[in-house]
Amino acid sequence: MRVPLLDLKAQYAEIRGEVEAAVLEVMESQLFRGGPQVEGFEREMAGYTGCAHAAGVASGTDALYLLFRALELKPGDEVITTPFTFFATAGAIVNAGGVPVFADVRPDTLTLDPAAVEERITPRTRAIVPVHLFGHCADMDAFLDLGGRHGIPVIEDAAQALGASHNGRMAGSMGRAAAVSFYPTKNLGAAGEGGMVLTSDPALDEKVRLLRCHGARAAYLHDMVGVNSHLPALQAAVLRVKLRHLDRWNDLRRRHALRYAEALGGAEGVSLPVELPGYRHIYHQYVVRIPRRDEAKALFQAEGVGCGVFYPVPLHRQACFAAYSGDASCPVADKACGEVLALPVYPELTDGQIDTVADLLRRHVGVSD
Ligand SMILES: *Cc1c(COP(=O)(O)O)cnc(C)c1O
Repeated sequence: MRVPLLDLKAQYAEIRGEVEAAVLEVMESQLFRGGPQVEGFEREMAGYTGCAHAAGVASGTDALYLLFRALELKPGDEVITTPFTFFATAGAIVNAGGVPVFADVRPDTLTLDPAAVEERITPRTRAIVPVHLFGHCADMDAFLDLGGRHGIPVIEDAAQALGASHNGRMAGSMGRAAAVSFYPTKNLGAAGEGGMVLTSDPALDEKVRLLRCHGARAAYLHDMVGVNSHLPALQAAVLRVKLRHLDRWNDLRRRHALRYAEALGGAEGVSLPVELPGYRHIYHQYVVRIPRRDEAKALFQAEGVGCGVFYPVPLHRQACFAAYSGDASCPVADKACGEVLALPVYPELTDGQIDTVADLLRRHVGVSD
């Protein structure tokens, strides 16, 4: 049985009527930039996450970049983050004029380790950026405590975690601000690119809104040098439809994770993803750790079963960050890069497909029934 890593056509088949109506409505209005769809979606996202403000931008990368610009980093200002994340988290720090400082991750969730961050705080530290990796929130209580003691804002990279929560607080609502991505493969994906900045700090929200519009306070009057970065109305219209389904889709991902755990629990050599007490994991990716990972990947490819390696190379080992990460030692992240394999966990998966994937993984580690 062929099983893709993600099947967006299956999702579209289910919501085609709603999406087409929403897209047609924008076409009839001919309002493509700003307008009721964008404002409506911003309101709905603020309500969904429990933030006072939400500002649509062109991508998750831009959401991070605009947040770091809004913090007004000066040359040499440091931002501590994880090396085990998508490139954009650290790329945005450099593009905004900062210096990324990499601290190691926790061995259980592979999210940023608060103890490792504390060791790397200096008088130049201007922000701490935990990533809610694969849909499991980072240890925000510890980061908020740490940030509070040192007077350093905590910025959440919530690109992979919309709908996840930690002790009743939604991902994106816990720190000073958060970046969200609507890249098509994210749990809430646009029909193209999109992103959002969430915050309950009105001054920060205002600065991001200025920066996303070339720093213009009023037409042709520019307070700052910003960029042109907007969430298109067509994307907002599609995302409003999909937001209504997000909790149900995330529940299905959680259900699939349970079925994997039943099928794979106890399989020698397979470490399953963990959900710590008090956290709601929304399984943007279902990532196991296994021996001989590259062999498993080849086996999956040969059998027509989708899988992914997130991430094969940690950021402190990327050539473009060599100037910043010379002394970074992140052995937990290094080890994870050689062991991780993401299995299909999209909502529309059938039980039969899940069993096929689990059987294949059991075959790889040599467990027979
Ligand atoms: C996807 C992602 C981003 C970037 O989002 P884009 O919308 O693709 O620019 C940033 N951080 C993390 C952790 C991501 O997964």
